[in-house]
Amino acid sequence: MTNDRPHPPARRAAAAALIGLSAVALAAAVFAPAGPAPAAAAAAAAQEPQQAPPPSQEPQAGEGKPQQDTAKPKPPRNPYYSRTDTTPLNVSEAEWKRVLPPDVYYIARLKGTEPPGSGKYDTFDGKGTYYCAPCGNKLFRSDAKFATTCGWPSFFQTVRPGAVLYQEDRSHNMIRVEVLCGRCKGHLGHVFNDGPPPTGRRYCMNSLVLDFEPDKPSAPANAKEGAAAEAPEAPASVAL
Ligand SMILES: [Zn+2]
Repeated sequence: MTNDRPHPPARRAAAAALIGLSAVALAAAVFAPAGPAPAAAAAAAAQEPQQAPPPSQEPQAGEGKPQQDTAKPKPPRNPYYSRTDTTPLNVSEAEWKRVLPPDVYYIARLKGTEPPGSGKYDTFDGKGTYYCAPCGNKLFRSDAKFATTCGWPSFFQTVRPGAVLYQEDRSHNMIRVEVLCGRCKGHLGHVFNDGPPPTGRRYCMNSLVLDFEPDKPSAPANAKEGAAAEAPEAPASVAL
């Protein structure tokens, strides 16, 4: 953030436009006899778009909905997310890009890594189950999570065989074992052999690709066998 660099032309142009806009607003305020307050006039001028308003009539999708509601872009629904369907997915990268939030897409599909210590589950110790954020596949139980100083949430075992897949990763001049989701093949992190007993493994995961569901107070503590232990109906907990 040094000030000794000349302003690039784009910024100069933007500044000039701002000055011009202020002048227009000022003129409007001065020459409007008993009109709206100067602040309101300035605000109106500032909100005026560069191009002419669309000639067509307004869509009016909802009946009298506030404008700010429609202006906020909603993330697209992810139709591949399921916590019960374990069928492997075969979804194109373009489709993943469309349905996943950009930060999740970056980790899961572009094999990115969140900065150490930045993830919401790094030092989190809630009791519950971790699912794959892109697809809902059950991955880990909190019982297998252990505290580390590495900066990422770490587990010593997965919730079931086949929950994840492994792949050799020779990027960054290292030989590591990459961990992929067993259902969507999304990148989750890596596994190392410096974990605690009983497995000695350390599944080093990115929080961004994990969804955590806390245990319900009434749920039995030893529900990790998983054989029909879950209630068949999931009342309104779609949580996409
Ligand atoms: Zn997945």
